[in-house]
Amino acid sequence: MATAGKSSKTRGRANGRDLTISAGGAATTAATVGLLMWIYNSYGIDLSSFSFWFVIPVGALLAGAAAASGYYFVAKWTHTMPTRRIMVNSIIIAGGAWMSLLWLKYVGMTFEDGTRVRDFVDFWTWFKITTENMSLNIRARGGSGVETGALGALGYVRQVIQFAGFAAGGLAVYGFLADAPICANCRRYAKTRSLTKALEPAAFDDMIGAADVSFPGLVDAVSAVAKGKGISLIGLELQTCPECGGLQVAPQVWVGREDSPTRLPAYSADQDLVGSIEAAAKSS
Ligand SMILES: [Zn+2]
Repeated sequence: MATAGKSSKTRGRANGRDLTISAGGAATTAATVGLLMWIYNSYGIDLSSFSFWFVIPVGALLAGAAAASGYYFVAKWTHTMPTRRIMVNSIIIAGGAWMSLLWLKYVGMTFEDGTRVRDFVDFWTWFKITTENMSLNIRARGGSGVETGALGALGYVRQVIQFAGFAAGGLAVYGFLADAPICANCRRYAKTRSLTKALEPAAFDDMIGAADVSFPGLVDAVSAVAKGKGISLIGLELQTCPECGGLQVAPQVWVGREDSPTRLPAYSADQDLVGSIEAAAKSS
């Protein structure tokens, strides 16, 4: 059986899914920009400009993540691991959301007598003026706000931070996707369910012994994530590929007092192995 390279049919289908994922990203970007502009026009507040201590652009991070969230939902929905191209796209689209907000503010801005700003200055001039004259309202907890006055050159720093915030929000969405378990053969997202409950390490060893299975390198992998903090619980997760039906078993360990488990690299498995583990897990 020849296995070298994907058939053009499979590749075409993968491209089609990438296109669907991109469409999802474009839809959530439009929705995010639309919502932010609606709030801005109604209440005069740009939520994406909210930040902590000037340098942590919380609003921009969230807005960038919201813009790129369509990638996340469609990738999960189609069980498709996004390609690197999608990673680049999600950063670009988040940056594009930032740009669109600026543009829409420019286009919609009027002088007091109702004449449009855009009839007098071009976009870049407007950008320069608003950036250099940007004034931030800094508010201490419980206190009333203090205006910084025109930021001057610092305004550009602020714009760069905002842009980076949007891009980082987009990148975070890709990070979540890259972290989810995928089939080693076809790189599609696997369906997951727990194969065993979370057991204390000694009980886990007993269960593995009773099932008569071995996970080569597991001890090393576990101590690498434990980092001296100890393992409170360990369990196994079953990952099933929706494309090829392939099975994988991934150990999940709870390090120290952490509430959520760390997923270790998966082992390929077959129905026999899964059956023995399930039988042993029932009686443990
Ligand atoms: Zn597969």
